[in-house]
Amino acid sequence: MLSGWQAPQLGHFPPETRSGEGRSSAWDAPTAPAFAGAPGFGGVSDNRTFFTALPQARAEPAYSQPPEHRAFPLGVARGQVANTYIVAEAEDGLILVDQHAAHERLVLERMKAAAANGGVRSQALLLPEVVELDEPACDRLESRLAELAGFGLELERFGPAAMLVRATPALLGHGDVHGLVRDLADELAAFEQTLSLKERLDQVAATMACHGSVRAGRALSVAEMNALLREMEVTPHSGQCNHGRPTWVKLAKSDLEKLFGRK
Ligand SMILES: [Zn+2]
Repeated sequence: MLSGWQAPQLGHFPPETRSGEGRSSAWDAPTAPAFAGAPGFGGVSDNRTFFTALPQARAEPAYSQPPEHRAFPLGVARGQVANTYIVAEAEDGLILVDQHAAHERLVLERMKAAAANGGVRSQALLLPEVVELDEPACDRLESRLAELAGFGLELERFGPAAMLVRATPALLGHGDVHGLVRDLADELAAFEQTLSLKERLDQVAATMACHGSVRAGRALSVAEMNALLREMEVTPHSGQCNHGRPTWVKLAKSDLEKLFGRK
């Protein structure tokens, strides 16, 4: 899922280029000379070694991008704010992405596509989980076992007031199984018995997607952020979350210039 450019950019960026044009000299002054000569850095007086050994930082310095990177409409990830918003630099402005809303939408679209193509694959849990619920909730889930299995969720009744979860939709990864089963039970209460879950596909898939998506508050690596941006670019409806709110906003360069009185 990762774009091929990520690794070469991070791994093989020549140090010469990093101190070259396109970067403010403010980046160079505090880092290179100070650390190269500092005690404890004796073995890395060669800047090349020092730069290669640098750990991957949370907020990457703003290297000048090779031209093809400018082609990404949602830009290149520069960092994360409040472990909730991705900050990306596009050619013509700054992009802010709500990571949960965006990822939830991508998972929903994947689930709907899978459901339309013969069912959602399930992934067995290593240890089945017991989810305690009230009896009516268990009854509602029990009456929909076959349909839920079609969504990749394999449940069994486990006594009067609990369900056993054997498998979850593979698309969701390792989400919050308890929250998912509880929310589905609540949702079923609102559905008419005559309606099939397929007819309520959007709601069921949306509930599952919410639990299978990266949460707000989770730290993401730069590679994860860029992978999310790239997938958003090729996924229809990815600009809106499942509740109709925007998943990203853009501050155009001209907006930034106005904010700073440059224009
Ligand atoms: Zn959600």
